[in-house]
Amino acid sequence: MKKIILKAGKEKSLLRHHPWVFSGAISRTEGYPVDGDTVQLYSSQGAFLAQAAYHASAPIAARVWSWQEDERIDEAFFYHKIVQALALRKDVGAYQEHSGFRLVHGESDGLPGLVVDCYDRVVVLQIGSVGAERWRKTFMEILKKICDPICIYERSDTDVRALEGLEKRTDILWGELPDNLTIEENGLRFAIDIAQGQKTGFYLDQRDNRAKIRTLASGKDVLNCFCYTGAFSVYARQGGAQSVLSVDSSEDALKLAQRNIALNGLSTDSLQWQCADVFQMLRKLRDQNRKFDLIILDPPKFAPTAAFADKAARGYKDINLLAFKLLRPGGILATYSCSSGISSDLFQKIVAGAALDAGVSAHIISQQIAAPDHPVLLSFPEGAYLKGLLVRVGI
Ligand code: SAH
Repeated sequence: MKKIILKAGKEKSLLRHHPWVFSGAISRTEGYPVDGDTVQLYSSQGAFLAQAAYHASAPIAARVWSWQEDERIDEAFFYHKIVQALALRKDVGAYQEHSGFRLVHGESDGLPGLVVDCYDRVVVLQIGSVGAERWRKTFMEILKKICDPICIYERSDTDVRALEGLEKRTDILWGELPDNLTIEENGLRFAIDIAQGQKTGFYLDQRDNRAKIRTLASGKDVLNCFCYTGAFSVYARQGGAQSVLSVDSSEDALKLAQRNIALNGLSTDSLQWQCADVFQMLRKLRDQNRKFDLIILDPPKFAPTAAFADKAARGYKDINLLAFKLLRPGGILATYSCSSGISSDLFQKIVAGAALDAGVSAHIISQQIAAPDHPVLLSFPEGAYLKGLLVRVGI
């Protein structure tokens, strides 16, 4: 049997069912485990703790598959896990009501290193750990059985793969990728670029937050920063926005965004698209004395880990401060952070500091998180990476 024995006292987080073991917690190994092997984790006192995937040279040296000693980690085990994940999506409505949803959300679904997004009948697999990499073919076979796909596409090109010593991989694993793939979300249609798009093609996690923006947009002048596929702009226009200025640094993103407006048969009157750096654009708008009623700030991840928190905090403060200055009295800022390294407490403090420095008083009217097909396992708070605040500035 392959075993890992932890140092004294290092079993505490596992006893709370947190699924990671850092390399510094390991006292010794037995049975010569190699990377990707399933190992049994034991406390220094000899008590069984969990079964995990081992990765000798990684900062996270073991990621838990199971808390049961007698469970076999095999195809049937993973099949059951993915069926359980699907059941959750059915319960929260993500499966029936939208044709794009996240089926597997890594650690939060008990499957560390595995993300699976479904776009209609195209399944996108993203593997981010050596442990999950070992089971790539198994995952593919299971997804064929459970999802009845026409294509399984691998988008294993995240930066975390480098930390795990894995090469980036993007390719069709099975079937054929259809041209012009679209999904339906809250009654709206979006084109999905699986091969070249960001993440696995679309930001599914913002689904409910976009729906909220639709309810706030009527008659408003909207500024959508970091617009990517223009999804917030599409919702805002459908919700009756008077004008929408959408900004992104990627030309391709802006093309996709305009296609999404057309796909939904929405009017292009007073819709503007700017290919620009948001940090500079906000300054330009300030200097032009432009004003908006609703501003959306949904930037990319500034802090992938806590080590980047300080630099990220400065970035968030800067854009939030500028946005506050561009809002009319009574205007609303919808501001987001998808940085795991920034807690929701810290994010709120940054936004509060930005309001103070902008000289506005503001109230939080709603706190937002990722849609429930990105669930947060109570024992894994790191899963709550997306934080949003809807803030209304005083009149
Ligand atoms: N709001 C989007 C997701 C945003 S993803 C949605 O709902 O789908 C982040 C986007 O920010 C990407 O499209 C990226 O091209 C863009 N981006 C990154 N840095 C930028 C910058 N400094 N200025 C403008 N856009 C930027």
